[in-house]
Amino acid sequence: MKGGKLIIFSAPSGSGKTTIVRHLLKQPELNLAFSVSATSRTSRGIEKEGEHYYFMSASTFKKHIKNDDFLEWEEVYRDNFYGTLKSEVERLWAAGKNVIFDIDVAGGLRIKKKFPKETLAVFVKPPSVDELKIRLKKRSTESDDKINMRIAKASVELATAPQFDEVIKNYDLDMALNEAHELVADFVGVETKLKKNKK
Ligand code: 5GP
Repeated sequence: MKGGKLIIFSAPSGSGKTTIVRHLLKQPELNLAFSVSATSRTSRGIEKEGEHYYFMSASTFKKHIKNDDFLEWEEVYRDNFYGTLKSEVERLWAAGKNVIFDIDVAGGLRIKKKFPKETLAVFVKPPSVDELKIRLKKRSTESDDKINMRIAKASVELATAPQFDEVIKNYDLDMALNEAHELVADFVGVETKLKKNKK
């Protein structure tokens, strides 16, 4: 596999990484495309097949594991599998894009290990575990049980931050968005409007 750059945003659920990734995708100079993951969890609300995820049964997911179709995969929560299909990255690289990922910490580090030079791995840090709880409750897309599961996982994930290339503190969203934009622009070798205006 050969192509453009890989940009990974990993963080505990509720840290704001999805908001950051969406913001970056809107910046044309970064030439990014989103890596749509495969998952065995069911679709939530407005999520669309092939846009947010490739939804599949656990048995189909396991067949892909057997066929060695994944660049990485994780049982992120019990019985909920998530993974990056090799074909997805190949497709986006073939289209001349840099690929951006919104994936869990273990998966992010695995891709970094496979493509050390091509990858920028960014960890998004929430203000605190308590704040995470508040954000997840506000989002109200999951049951209390699922929220507690995500919080328990968050504490473990926070300890992996030093293994990433960069850590962004998401205490103030606008600042986090700008910081993420500059980091990715530097990595892919383009200038942002912000920087040009400062000159
Ligand atoms: P959610 O169910 O909220 O969409 O995602 C749960 C977690 O799985 C999030 O931390 C998300 O980033 C992660 N995730 C999504 N896709 C992948 C993937 O392809 N691989 C891995 N390892 N994690 C993923």
